[in-house]
Amino acid sequence: MNAELIAVGTELLLGQIVNTNAQFLSKELANLGINVYHHSVVGDNQTRLQQVIEIAQKRSNLIIFTGGLGPTKDDLTKETVAEVLDLPLVEDENVLLDISDYFKKQNRMMPENNRKQALILKGSTILPNHVGTAPGIAIKKDNIVYMLLPGPPAEMKPMFINYGRPFLLEQLKIKEYIESKVLKFFGIGESKLETEILDLIEAQTNPTIAPVIEDGEATIRLTAKGTSLEDVRKMLEELERKILDRVGQYFYGYNNTTLYKEVFELLKKKKMSISSAESLTGGGFAHELTNFAGSSSIFKGSIVCYDTEVKKDILKVPLEVIEIEGVVSNTCAKYMAENVRQLLKTDIGISFTGVAGPDMQEGKSVGTVFVGIAFKGQETKVFPLNLAGSRSTIRKKSIKHGYFHLLK
Ligand code: ATP
Ligand code: MG
Repeated sequence: MNAELIAVGTELLLGQIVNTNAQFLSKELANLGINVYHHSVVGDNQTRLQQVIEIAQKRSNLIIFTGGLGPTKDDLTKETVAEVLDLPLVEDENVLLDISDYFKKQNRMMPENNRKQALILKGSTILPNHVGTAPGIAIKKDNIVYMLLPGPPAEMKPMFINYGRPFLLEQLKIKEYIESKVLKFFGIGESKLETEILDLIEAQTNPTIAPVIEDGEATIRLTAKGTSLEDVRKMLEELERKILDRVGQYFYGYNNTTLYKEVFELLKKKKMSISSAESLTGGGFAHELTNFAGSSSIFKGSIVCYDTEVKKDILKVPLEVIEIEGVVSNTCAKYMAENVRQLLKTDIGISFTGVAGPDMQEGKSVGTVFVGIAFKGQETKVFPLNLAGSRSTIRKKSIKHGYFHLLK
């Protein structure tokens, strides 16, 4: 298939705007394996547009127009194509409904000249416009495919990706591959995540990027379309790399995974054992890990040291630590993690101590939490957290932070 792009608009000839539509469409067509041999630009002038179409018909079998589909007098692409192809323009009931709906949603009356946009070439396929009013049109006549798209890139791009491209694939009898991949993050809010990759989100067409919040965690779904599985996967990998370059420190896994599952798999792979000392989480860390069949190979046990006496007598947290710094402290978390590790003879000991609320404790505000992680032969790390939310949210977040730090 030999393609030619015709951009219609006097502003393009005057240098007031750049023909970015041609750049976008050329790339998209190249991806489909379609040769683009000519780009033309013509002003809003019926005679000259007619001449350009007649030239294109002699050398191309796919002609894509952008621009000149608007409601005003100078928008004449559709009318000119109709004349050259000797096809009547007919009003389409559904398109007219779509256009009047568009105005209704904005609480505006539909101006009479917008009715013109409901005229389509007889026998053509409509390419819906979800962003503006002018629908696109595709038609095949005498072995040449014509596609008419609106000028504004924000309308043209999604229309081409969602409707124009599938129309061409059907013409070419090419099978389309679609694949999605979900990236999961922890420790970064949805809005921060979106801000970090806003330019990528705004530039998206294929693959698309859809941020979603799931169970309080930020996730991003990437979806790519292409004519081979290899292409699709390459596109997804490239975009993933760009995203992880920016926010990789918060990334922990793909698709349906959870923080719990990632930790379970990691410890199993490394053949490492773990035990926990849990105060405010009340055994929640252990609960999540023992959900997995086979967890006995890595998990030894948990000491739920809810009461201070248990911290002191069983976990041997020194009395002076409890009296001077308190049980909600960095040092207490450190002792809890180290001592549970030694008591239960594991490679890793993890501890949780903090204030889940509703009341303050030891003068420390609700949401103050310390997570300790003791690795055999390494210096113990304590992560101080300042969490917001209800009692159950604080407990749940504490557990997730513990799991996340085990991965990092
Ligand atoms: P509208 O309903 O907005 O009038 P239209 O299909 O009639 O849409 P034009 O009037 O030709 O399109 O162009 C509208 C705007 O779209 C232009 O002012 C410009 O901002 C943008 N535009 C048009 N053609 C191109 C192009 N080839 N490349 C980039 N932007 C373009
Ligand atoms: Mg216009």
